[in-house]
Order: sequence, then C-alpha cells, then structure tokens
Amino acid sequence: MTTQTAQQPGKVYLVGAGPGDPGLITLRGKYLLERAEVVVYDYLANPKLLSHVPNTAERVYAGKKGGGLHAFTQEGINKLLVDYALTGKRVVRLKGGDPFIFGRGAEEIQELVVAGIDFEVVPGVTSATAAATYAGIPITHREHTASVAFITGHEATGKKESNVAWDKLATGAGTLVIYMGIKNLPIITKKLMDNGRAPDTPVAVVRWASTPEQHSVEGTLATITEVVKKADIKPPALVIVGDVVKLRNTIDWFERRPLFGKRMVITRTREQASELVARLAENGADCLEYPTLHMEPVEDYTILDQALQEIGSYQWLLFTSLNAITWFFKHLWEKGMDARNLNGPKIAVVGRATADKLLTYGLKADLIPEHFTGEGLAEALIETGIQGGKILIPRAVKAREILPEMLKQAEASVTVAPVYENVPPQGRKDELRERLENGTIDLVTFTSSSTVDNFLTMVDAASEEELHRLMDPVTIAVIGPITADTVQKHGLKVDIQPEQYTITDMVNAIVAYYQQADT
Ligand code: SAH
Repeated sequence: MTTQTAQQPGKVYLVGAGPGDPGLITLRGKYLLERAEVVVYDYLANPKLLSHVPNTAERVYAGKKGGGLHAFTQEGINKLLVDYALTGKRVVRLKGGDPFIFGRGAEEIQELVVAGIDFEVVPGVTSATAAATYAGIPITHREHTASVAFITGHEATGKKESNVAWDKLATGAGTLVIYMGIKNLPIITKKLMDNGRAPDTPVAVVRWASTPEQHSVEGTLATITEVVKKADIKPPALVIVGDVVKLRNTIDWFERRPLFGKRMVITRTREQASELVARLAENGADCLEYPTLHMEPVEDYTILDQALQEIGSYQWLLFTSLNAITWFFKHLWEKGMDARNLNGPKIAVVGRATADKLLTYGLKADLIPEHFTGEGLAEALIETGIQGGKILIPRAVKAREILPEMLKQAEASVTVAPVYENVPPQGRKDELRERLENGTIDLVTFTSSSTVDNFLTMVDAASEEELHRLMDPVTIAVIGPITADTVQKHGLKVDIQPEQYTITDMVNAIVAYYQQADT
C-alpha cells in the first residue's frame, strides 16, 4: 500500500457486524460491504460476512482478541484507516456488534476527522441484546425490570479509579449486562453483593452468542463464578444479571433447537446448497460446506444444437436434475433463443423441485412421475405411449443410463445431449481430513451418487480400515435409495433416508433422527 495524498480522499464506513450470526448485519452494512474496496475487520466480526465483499477488494484482518495477540495496536488501526482512505478507497471498517458500544469506534473516527476524511457510521446489533435474546432472556420486562445498564467488566481492576460506579449500579439498574467480564467475574459479583444486590439474584453467562458455538450457563451472584469455571467458559462472553434471567426457562429457544450444536457437512455444489443449508441451520445445525461437485460447460454442444433446430419433431423433452435445467437454458439463451423456441415437445421432469425450477423459466411440466427417480420417470413416460417417438434428454456428460435405456427398450428414439460436466472436487481437502480425524463432524449429507463418490475421493482414505476409522463415527444421511446404494457400495452404512426424495423430507428425517436419539 502506498500513501498518495494527491488523490481525492476516499471514505471510511464504520459498520457494525452484529454479534456473530452473519444474518444479523443491517441491510445498510451489507450494501456497503458489497461495494467496499478495502475491508478492515475484527476478531469478533464473523469472517463469513466477507462473502459479501467483491473479490477484488483488499481484506485486512485487524485482530484484537481480548487478552491475546493484537494483529494491530489501536493506533495502528487508526493509521491504517487514514492511509487507505487517503489513497481514495472506499473503506469498510467492520466491527463486532455495534461500533459505538465498547468498540472504540469513536477513537477511530477522531483520527479520520483530524485527517479530514469523510465517514459514516452504521449501527449493529450489539452482543448484549443478541446474547440475551438467543439465551431466551428479555432484558426488560414490565413485571421484573424497567431499566438496563451496559457495563464494561474490563475496568473492574487495574485502574485505580474505575469509571464504573459499581456501588450505584448494584441496585440502581434492574438488569445489568456486563461486557468483557469473564476474567473479573469474582470481583464483579463480589462488588455487586457488597453493594446490596441479593446473592440469590439470577445470573446468566452467554458465550459466542448467536453462533453455533453458543454456550450459556446459569447461576446466581453467589454461584456463577463457580459455574463458569466448571463449564470452562472463556471470552467472548456476556454476563446478564437480574430477575429477567428466570424467564429463560420458558423462552430459551436457540439452544433447544433439535440440531443445535451438530456439525453437518453439505456436499452439494455451492449453487445448490443454499436450501439445504438454510433448512438445517434453522433447526440449529452448524453447516460446513464442502462442495464436492463443480460444474463446467461441455466443449461441444453439437448434439443439443442439432436437436434444437428440429425441436418441433420431438415428442418429449426431459429434465432429470436442476442443473440440467440451468445449463440447458444457459445455452439456449446464449444461442439467442428462449422458452418460446421450445414449442413442440411436451416436457417431463423427475420431481417437484425440477418442476418448480422449470416454472421459473416460464414453463409448466406436463408430467411429474409419482416416484422421483429415473426409473419412475421412465415408467410414467412409457405408460403415455412413446413407441417411435423422439425424446430429448439434456443432462450431464456422465449420468445414470437407466432412463435412456428404459426408453430405448420401449422403442423410443432417444437423444442424450450433454449440457454440462461434473468435474472432480478441489480444495479444502486437508481441512476436511483434519475434521474427520478430530471427530468434529457429526453428519454428512449426500444428495446424489456423485456427491458420494467425490466426497470419498476427497477423503482419500489409504485403506478400507482407514475409511472405516474416519467415517464410521459419522452419521450418514442420503436423499434416496440410489444414493444409499452408492454409499453401501463403498462399504459404508446409511443412517438416515427419507421416504420421499426431497430436501425437505431429508431434513425432516435428520431432525427426527436426532429427536429420537435424545429421548
Ligand atoms: N462492540 C461490541 C463489543 C465489543 S467488546 C458489541 O457491540 O457487541 C468485546 C466484548 O463483547 C466481549 O468480551 C464479550 O463480552 C462481548 N461479545 C462480543 N460478541 C459476543 C458474542 N457473540 N457472544 C458473547 N459476547 C460477545
């Protein structure tokens, strides 16, 4: 980085990242991340938020872990922001929680003001409200408390003159929320009791609020230090003191979700994973995405192009996967055509999801089989009478041959047109291996045979024994019988398989599996 003062200075956006869950950033914050040229982010800002940032943007980790190593000093960070802005960049300074609540945001801004640099501040969900909400504690309640104090616990010792008036706060506010209070918890609780707060006042401590690692414990002013020690709760954590903590019994929702704390591997491609991830995450799972499939266009589209030229002569057009639809239309559009060019054949799809996908292109499926498999589709088609008819199947280069074979046997004239290719997995292989070795994966989801094959290529076990050592402790969930077969062919067991072959049914089956295990 160079400092060029000749340029028009840029602007610095101090953005609150929220408490941890990447969904808890504001729309304004996300908008600014999407347009950032430089992002300077903290230890407490979830790195997943960087997925909003353009690839071309520079990412700078500014560190700051309570009590640990600082990647930069506060002065260093202040200078960094000024220097980047002076080169004319749009700089997003991403800070955990809210930038103005124990975030030293104001200090960073003072430096910008001195340097004459324009700025904007975007508030964030502060960890105090998030920790309370995600631990099932309303920080105010008509019957229990009419006031809340946000306090730093960092100052309890060290400074001769603490800025915190513990004597007044002890009984002066109904609910106390203490940031950075873990290290000094014995001193803080003692000060509160010495100054008149009842020793049996309920206290909750919440670590990594709103994330899959959230861990909360409960006690009283008299007992919480011991409880925290036993549970080995380390920063970052918040301490919530007051009668409202009692309401947790009824309101606690986040940690009670059926898949809370379970780590699940998603093997679908990134483009396809979102629905599965969203549904599992809503049930509390921590989803680790290891896409095992990567798709690329094929080199030669001659077969499809020829078929499109005479599309009117086809009786059926078949789609057996979402990807086939996506890549088919991608090519169609590239040729300057659209859905109107497809009049002629009827359209059949393999299941509900493919039918829905097709609708987004303005087309309604004429046939959806009762059983969502290639065989199910073939049988349904054969029943309609396809003898002598022409059938077009755009699909992956490599796919199951059962559908075209069954149709050919029924004397249809079948054209298989490759529209995309699955290429083997890449990247993050070592990380996956390490997680399997450490036993930090609870479950793997497989949504097709190729995800199974490619996942196991990624695992790269040297022997059958090693494969079993790594995979036997992991619960395996598959979408349907064909994927299950593939898992079994590799010598592994299938633990979860839904009756209907859809993502929703698969997620429901996973939830039911863990609920059963709990009872
Ligand atoms: N500006 C931040 C606070 C920074 S001070 C905010 O508004 O939230 C750092 C302290 O915040 C930590 O020591 C811890 O007490 C608290 N904290 C931040 N994120 C947290 C989280 N996800 N869970 C629990 N405490 C958190």
